Amino acid sequence: MSMYQNSKQLFERAQQSIPGGVNSPVRAFKSVGGTPVFMKSAKGAYLYDADGNQYIDYIASWGPMILGHAYEPVVKAIQEKVTYSTSFGAPTELEIKMAELIKTMVPNVDLIRMVSSGTEACMSALRLARGYTGRNKFIKFDGCYHGHADAFLVKAGSGMATLNIQTVPGVTGGVSNDTLTCAYNDLPAVEQLVNQYKGEIAAIIIEPVVGNMGCILPAPGFLERLRKICDEEGIVFIFDEVMTGFRLAAGGAQAKLNINADLITYGKVIGGGLPVGAFGGKKEIMQHIAPLGNVYQAGTLSGNPIAMIAGYTLLNELKNNPAIYEELDAKTKYLGDGIAAILLQHKIPNRINRFGSMISVHFCDHDIIDFESASRANILLFNQLFHFMLDNGVYLPPSAYESWFLNNALTYADLDKTIELFNGFFHTKGAKDTK
Ligand SMILES: *Cc1c(COP(=O)(O)O)cnc(C)c1O
Repeated sequence: MSMYQNSKQLFERAQQSIPGGVNSPVRAFKSVGGTPVFMKSAKGAYLYDADGNQYIDYIASWGPMILGHAYEPVVKAIQEKVTYSTSFGAPTELEIKMAELIKTMVPNVDLIRMVSSGTEACMSALRLARGYTGRNKFIKFDGCYHGHADAFLVKAGSGMATLNIQTVPGVTGGVSNDTLTCAYNDLPAVEQLVNQYKGEIAAIIIEPVVGNMGCILPAPGFLERLRKICDEEGIVFIFDEVMTGFRLAAGGAQAKLNINADLITYGKVIGGGLPVGAFGGKKEIMQHIAPLGNVYQAGTLSGNPIAMIAGYTLLNELKNNPAIYEELDAKTKYLGDGIAAILLQHKIPNRINRFGSMISVHFCDHDIIDFESASRANILLFNQLFHFMLDNGVYLPPSAYESWFLNNALTYADLDKTIELFNGFFHTKGAKDTK
């Protein structure tokens, strides 16, 4: 009997009533093949599936579970808050406390608006940048993902790369015409677009450290130069920190890389595992949002008290224990170094990209600096590795195009087990057919 018997049955059943059996495409295992594993519970660094299998978790719900699953202070805070009603449709003091807390943690946020997802945050930030500048076009980078709002669904990273969707049916040409794209880390391409569309570009939006085509780092000086271009051309510089915010540091990529963005979007960690996103930034721009200004944006469940208390509690933990980031950094480095040593031993060409607690392993002989280089890696080998790991109790992202996210509940024993499994995989496989 398969160790995934119950998951297989659930997947069969799910497909009868949910498109593709999942509520978000990457969960369907299309990229790696096989049947998605249905989860039942999780505690700390471990996931438990519908068949009772345990996994060491390297996705942390794509980020939010940075301190591990069912983290006690967050669970308690939710339990207490829920008895006061789950929604009012009217303002609460907790929303102020959340905004005030974030302002103490991250640079360059004078005003911040809560939404319910990273998608909403990016969509709203772009609308605001357009409303503020009176311009329509914007630049995004191939392979960066900013949620599924129409304007962003052009060369948009992992999920779409996995499904091999290039242009998206349902997105009008009118919309995508205003989306200008170039390769990540390609300054001359940005400069060319800026010159070609002088005075027409409202915003440059970027993942300051990319997590949606594996982990990709900005080349030295790249973000600094973009900052300068934006200043010179009156372009709004948007940092999409949905992944990096509260993960790379309490102050996110802005603090870690020492660069100011004009608008910043958040998601994932900010909600502690509940649906929360946010966008904020300089008052001069943010004051154009309704009801202060005339750029409309709203949400029935925005600032929802249960979502807010989860995020507020988690962010407080992160703010008050800066050692968390050092620990996460040390663990991720240990994992990366351990895997690198095994790959060297087996003579497997590779690049391991890491920044803080984001890491990805690419099987290739060239640097991974953008989407094109990421897609030239050996995806098939990653997929085989993924299934070997899964069968042995390690849950990696089910796509070579996704960053792994470490959580601080991981122990060094967990990391050692993972590293040893890399050894087991390449040992079993033999170096012969992996090149
Ligand atoms: C996940 C993600 C989003 C979208 O957030 P959702 O909450 O899934 O809508 C946007 N930008 C980046 C960088 C992301 O990683």
